[in-house]
Amino acid sequence: MALPRFAPRHAAPAFARCVACGLLAVLLGWAGAAVAQDGAAPRPAQVLVINGADAYLPAFVAIDAAMRASVQRGVDRPVVWLYETLDALRFAEGGLGPEMAEVLARKYRDTRIDAVVLVAEPALRFYLRHRERLWPLVPVVFHSVPSSTVRGLEIGAGVSGVPFDADYEQTLRIARSLQPRARRVVVVSGVSSFDEAELRRARRALETDADRLAVEYLVGATPAEMAERLSRETLDTIVLYLSVFRDAGGQVHTPREVLARISAASGAPVYGVHDTFMGQGLAAGALEPYPVRGERAGELLAEALRSPGVAAARVMAAPASHCVADNRQLERHRLSARALPEGCELRHVEPSVLQRYWWQSLLVVLALVLQSALIAALLLQRRRRRQAELGLQAQRAQLLHASRLAVAGELTAAIAHEINQPLGAILSNADAAEMLLQSGRISREELLQILADIRRDDLRASAVIKRLRALLARHDVERQPLHANQVAEDAGAILRPEARRRGATLELALQARHDEVLGDPVQLQQVLINLVLNAFDAMGASPPEHRRVRVETTEAAAGVQIGVRDFGPGIAAADLPRVFDPFFSSKASGMGLGLSIARSIVEAHGGTITAANREPGAEFRVTLPLAPTHDPSETLASRSA
Ligand code: ADP
Repeated sequence: MALPRFAPRHAAPAFARCVACGLLAVLLGWAGAAVAQDGAAPRPAQVLVINGADAYLPAFVAIDAAMRASVQRGVDRPVVWLYETLDALRFAEGGLGPEMAEVLARKYRDTRIDAVVLVAEPALRFYLRHRERLWPLVPVVFHSVPSSTVRGLEIGAGVSGVPFDADYEQTLRIARSLQPRARRVVVVSGVSSFDEAELRRARRALETDADRLAVEYLVGATPAEMAERLSRETLDTIVLYLSVFRDAGGQVHTPREVLARISAASGAPVYGVHDTFMGQGLAAGALEPYPVRGERAGELLAEALRSPGVAAARVMAAPASHCVADNRQLERHRLSARALPEGCELRHVEPSVLQRYWWQSLLVVLALVLQSALIAALLLQRRRRRQAELGLQAQRAQLLHASRLAVAGELTAAIAHEINQPLGAILSNADAAEMLLQSGRISREELLQILADIRRDDLRASAVIKRLRALLARHDVERQPLHANQVAEDAGAILRPEARRRGATLELALQARHDEVLGDPVQLQQVLINLVLNAFDAMGASPPEHRRVRVETTEAAAGVQIGVRDFGPGIAAADLPRVFDPFFSSKASGMGLGLSIARSIVEAHGGTITAANREPGAEFRVTLPLAPTHDPSETLASRSA
């Protein structure tokens, strides 16, 4: 630094000393700051909280926590919290006189206090009275003092705070919207100074209520008396619970514990204004959120700690109250939450089963959807399969029908002959009758005989046609109980003319007596006709005396057996395993379908068909199960008969 040129010579040493002192001071200051920066922690702020009531009341605990958190955010040094409780609820305010101020002054004589927090009205009043003896120059922040009280106090410089306004007007409006038919209000209160101040405020609110309700005051009773009294109330009554710190007998209480007791007994819903009452049986009310009060007090305190000194008095606006309702209490008193004012906060809403188990429900729904989709797919598949089966059945029926037509084709010559015979006989009889009538040589008896012959021959011809028609008609497959013997006889009747045409004998040996099978008579006939026609074919080259076919029915353990035996050359050993294959034929004009169709019919009836060679000839054996309704004891009895 350059020295000023105009400085007188004799003044130089003093000036130099001054500069040196200044430099030293700067260096020391810098060093000090460096030390502070290097590690010396900033001095903690010490805050004394004086609670006028009971610091452990749930409301104060909640406000205090919010206040401390707010201060910690607003101040960049640690804060040491010191607590004093005046407990004005148990001890009259008179007990908080100069002696108490003296005790506190002495207690904290050697303790630096950076700010004082005053909680509740008794603390503020006490402090304002004894400020000079206590900490006159220290900033003060108060909270939880009613606005009306604050307005009437001369709080002076250096004091700031957050008052509160119990909103009884709004609470009454909420109660009346929930209970529009209520005609009475029962106001419940204690007798502590706080209780009485609240009572005055509630009374004012009730008096300004436009549509006045009948008001009854229940003040100073014990909780037991109150509970008993309120148990007789109904939904015609609104119960307004203020606070009960002390009853008329001098017993001190915690207000929310009293509330829990009386609301459990009350027949009418209970309303109130304090945040910590919610969940203790309060149905609804205009509540001030305590954390907001705490936060605002914390902001004022942080401000005071950041810029110490006595600032002008500053009172913040009381935090606004808003509607809160307890859904459990509404449900208990059958009150509709829809009647609440708009924007009202509804607490303790039990989540529905769906909301509570939403992911499980989702899984169940998904599983059901998947299951339904699977069932739908299976049903669709089943339907398609059924359609395919029906289509197959229809085709099979067509094939069987075509096969019967083919058989009929084979039998045409024999059938024509069979019909021709009676027709010829009818014609001859008719000619004879005509001649005899013309000659006039016929008696009445002779004429009747001729007519009887004509009728018999006609019936014979129509029986042949009937049988053929039954075989050839398209029909729905039917399962009916039938006797194997009957099937054999019907087939025999159709085949006999063909046997005659071929010069063969058809023998029926029907030994199955009583057993019934369940089947389609036409299809089973078709099987027998196929087997017998094959037998006739096989014996085509045999001498006429050997052309014999024997159809036999027998009872067997597995059911009823129908055997078709011929006395021809038998089946070539190499062909035996293939005779039932479709399109296998050893005949020049054979289609090779007869036996495969026969097998499919027998198997569709749950039976079996086998082929074997005998000495001489071949034998086919069809085994059909008995009808399910068949009584085995009856069979045994009839067999032994
Ligand atoms: P198709 O009569 O058109 O040949 P089938 O399926 O009815 O068709 O018969 C298949 C083959 O089985 C016949 O060609 C024949 O070789 C053999 N067969 C069937 N029945 C007899 C039988 N009673 N004796 C000898 N061979 C037989």
